[in-house]
Amino acid sequence: PAQGEDPLLAGLNPQQLEAVTYRGRALLIVAGAGSGKTSVLTRRIALLLRQREAWPSQILAITFTNKAAGEMRERVAGLVGETARGMWISTFHSACVRILRREAEQFGFTKSFTIYDSGDSRALIKRLVKEHEADAFGLTPAAVQSRISKLKNELTDAEGHARQANLSDPAERKFADIFADYQRALQKANAFDFDDLIAQTVFLFRAFPRVADTYRRRFRHILVDEYQDTNHAQYALIHELTRPPAGEGTAPDPYAMNGMMIFEPELSAGAEPDEGGAEGASLTVVGDSDQSIYAFRGADIRNITEFERDFPGAKVVLLEQNYRSTQNILSAANAVIGNNFDRKAKNLWSDRGAGEKIVGFTGYSQHDEAQFVADEVESLRRAGVPYSEMAVFYRTNSQSRALEEIFIRAAVPYKIMGGTKFYERAEIKDALAYLISVANPADEMAVRRILNKPRRGIGGVTEAQIALFAEQNTISFRDALRSPASLGVGPKIQAAITRLDEVLNEATGIMLPPSGEVPPATSVADALTVLLDKSGYFESLRASRDPQDEARLENLDEFIAVARDFARNNPDGTIADFLTEVALVSDADDLDDESGTVSLMTMHTAKGLEYDAVFVTGVEEDLIPHRISAGEPGGPQEERRLFYVGITRARKRLHLSLAMTRAQFGEVSVAMPSRFLQEIPADLVDWRQSPGDVNSRGGTQSRALNARRPGGFGGRGNDPFAAKALPKGGGLKPLSTAMDRFPNKVTGKVRDNGDLELNAGDRIRHDDFGEGRVEAVTGEGAKRIAHVRFDTAGQKKLLIKIAPIAKL
Ligand code: ATP
Ligand code: MG
Repeated sequence: PAQGEDPLLAGLNPQQLEAVTYRGRALLIVAGAGSGKTSVLTRRIALLLRQREAWPSQILAITFTNKAAGEMRERVAGLVGETARGMWISTFHSACVRILRREAEQFGFTKSFTIYDSGDSRALIKRLVKEHEADAFGLTPAAVQSRISKLKNELTDAEGHARQANLSDPAERKFADIFADYQRALQKANAFDFDDLIAQTVFLFRAFPRVADTYRRRFRHILVDEYQDTNHAQYALIHELTRPPAGEGTAPDPYAMNGMMIFEPELSAGAEPDEGGAEGASLTVVGDSDQSIYAFRGADIRNITEFERDFPGAKVVLLEQNYRSTQNILSAANAVIGNNFDRKAKNLWSDRGAGEKIVGFTGYSQHDEAQFVADEVESLRRAGVPYSEMAVFYRTNSQSRALEEIFIRAAVPYKIMGGTKFYERAEIKDALAYLISVANPADEMAVRRILNKPRRGIGGVTEAQIALFAEQNTISFRDALRSPASLGVGPKIQAAITRLDEVLNEATGIMLPPSGEVPPATSVADALTVLLDKSGYFESLRASRDPQDEARLENLDEFIAVARDFARNNPDGTIADFLTEVALVSDADDLDDESGTVSLMTMHTAKGLEYDAVFVTGVEEDLIPHRISAGEPGGPQEERRLFYVGITRARKRLHLSLAMTRAQFGEVSVAMPSRFLQEIPADLVDWRQSPGDVNSRGGTQSRALNARRPGGFGGRGNDPFAAKALPKGGGLKPLSTAMDRFPNKVTGKVRDNGDLELNAGDRIRHDDFGEGRVEAVTGEGAKRIAHVRFDTAGQKKLLIKIAPIAKL
C-alpha cells in the first residue's frame, strides 16, 4: 500500500511512522512524556481500519480511563469515519465487565451481577472483620482490604492464599478465613469487586479454554496505552488474549460467537481482513517507565522492562521528540527524572523553543500560595488562556480545600476531579442500592442498605430476623421480604416490609417485564423514579429541614437525568449496562473540558492529560515526596516519577509553588521545600516575590543586585534555595533563610512575631482559638513551637514565629 501518501501518516516523525506502520507480532513503544505515544496508538488503529487489515470488531484497545477511551474512539472516528464502530476501546475494567457479562453464567454468576466499588467492599470487609473479631489480631478493615486487593492483583485467590499462608499463626488464619468468607459473600451476592473483574476474567480464560479461544480468535490486534502501570493480573490477561487459539486452523464461525462479530458492509466491499486464524493476536504496547506511578496498587514496571523477553522478536521503537512542552519545561523534567537511578537515560527534546521560564513561588501559608495561584490564573485568563486550559495539581486530596476557599472568594470557576465523587454520595448510593435490589436481588448488601431508608421502623433486630428466616429456608434475603408474616415481627413492621416489597415488585415490572420482552431503555429512569417516589425516599428529603437534603434532592434529580441520558445514548442499553457505566466512572472521567473551568486534581489523576498552563502546588518535603513514601522501598523514586508526570502535563506555562507553613488537622507545621525543586537547574526558574512584598526588602532591587553577581543568581527573588548558592550557605537550610526575608508581613492568619519570648506558663491570645496557657516550648530559632492548652479550643501546637498570637 502507498503508505507514504496516506493522510493518516502525515506529520509523523520517522520513529512514529515506523511505530504506526510496523507489522509483526509484538511492538513496544517506549518513550517519554508527550512524545506522541497515545497519538501513535490512535493512528495505528486508524491505519489498520483504513487499510482493511482488520475489522473494527477485531481491535481491542486498552486505555487508562474511560475518558481516554472516549477520546481515542472519537479521534479514530475522525480519521476513518463511521467504520470505527464496533471496536472495543476501553479500560481493562470495562473490557473485562463486557466479557464477564457474556460469560458469567459459565461459572455461577448471572449477567446482571453487581460491581462493588472500594466503598462497597470496605463495608463488606468491615462486617466480616467484626464477625471474626479480627481487630483483636490487628486486622483493620483497611489493612484487610488492601491485602486482599494485592493478592488478587497477583492472581492469588482465597484458596491459593490459604495453601501458602502460615495458618498456625492465628492472625494469618483469621485473615485467610476472612478472605474466604469475603469471596463467598461476593459470590452469593452475585457480585465482583474491582480487582475481581480482571482476576476472574483471567481465571475464566484458564478454566475454560474454549471461552478463551473465542476471544483469541476475535481480537487480532491488541493495543495497550500506559503499559507501565499494568499490574500482574492485567499482564496475565493480555498474555491469555495474545496466545494462539487452540483449535488448529479451523475458521471461526461468526454465528457461534454470540453475535460478537460485527461485519461492516462497507468494509467487506474492499479487501477482506483475515478473519482470525491460528496465530496469536498482534500486540502493541506503549509506555514510559518514568511515568510508572501505581506501584502501590500493584503495577509492575517489569511488565515493560521484560517485554522483549516475554515476546521474543518484539520490535522496540523509541520516540524522543516531545511535541507537548516548551524546552524549559522539558529541561526541568529531564533534570528531575535524571536523578532516578535504575533507568535508561532518555533524551527528550522539543522544537517548540525555550518558551517562558518556569515560575516559582513561596508563600507563607497554603492560603498565600492559593492566592498566588488564583491571581496567576486570572492574569493568564486576561492574557487569553481559557480556564479550561489551566490545571492545578496537588499530591493529596486534602490540599484542595485551601485552593477552593480562595478560588471561591476570587470567583474563579473550578472543578475538582476526584474528591467525594458523585457516585460516592450517600443518596446516590441509596438510589443505586434500590436499582440493584431490583436488577440483582441476590445482592444482599444492596437490599440491606435500603431496608430502612427512608426510616420505616425496620431496625437491626428485624434485619437479623429477616436474615435468619432467609437462612433457615435457604432463600435470598430479598425473597424473605415476601413473607413478612413469617418473620415473627409486629404488624406495623410487617406492613412496612410489605410496602417495600411492593415497591420493588413494581419497579421490577418496569425494568424486567415478566413477558421476557426487552424493556425500553428509559425503563431504568422510570423505575428509579418509582422507587424513590413510592418508597417515600423523596418525601423524607422534602420534609426535612436540613439544608443539605435540598442538595441531595438535586443530586438525585441529576442522577435520574443521567439515566435518561444513558437511555438516549444507548437505545439498546440494559439496566446492567447502565450499572456498569456508573460503577466504572473514575476520577479522571469527571473531567469536562468544555465547561470553562479550571481543573483541580491530584497528580495521579493528571496522567495522560495536557494543559497550556499547569500549577503544581505544595512542592514540599512530606507532600512530594510524600511522607508515607519514605519508608517504602523505591518510594522516593516513585514520588519523583509522580512529580515528573505533573510537570510534563504543561504545554507552555509551568508554575511550581510551595508554602513555608502548612496547617493540617488544626496544627500549623513548618514545611520544607521539596528536594525535587533543587534538582531543577536554577536558570530555568523565575522565583517570584511574595505578593505585597514587591516594594519592600528583597524585591526588584535585590533581584537586580543578584543579577549582577557572578555565577548568575539572577531573578531568583524568593528562591527557597538561595541559601545554598551563598558562599557560607552549605546544606539545606532554605526555610529559615526564606523566612528571614519577609519581615513584618501579615498574610491571612499568619504573622511575623519576630523573636517573641515565650515560656511555659505564659498566657497568650490566639486570633482563632482565644486564650490559653503555654505548656511547653520546643525547637529553635524560626522553628520554635509553642504547645498551648487553650481554654476552649483544646491543645494545639503553634509555630511561634508566625502564629497569630499575642502574649498577655
Ligand atoms: P504521555 O506520556 O503524557 O501520555 P504521549 O506520549 O501519549 O504523552 P501524546 O499525548 O500522544 O503523547 O502527544 C502529546 C502531544 O503532542 C499531543 O498534543 C499530540 O497531538 C502532539 N503530537 C504527537 N505527535 C505529533 C507530531 N508528529 N506532530 C505534531 N504534534 C504531535
Ligand atoms: Mg499518552
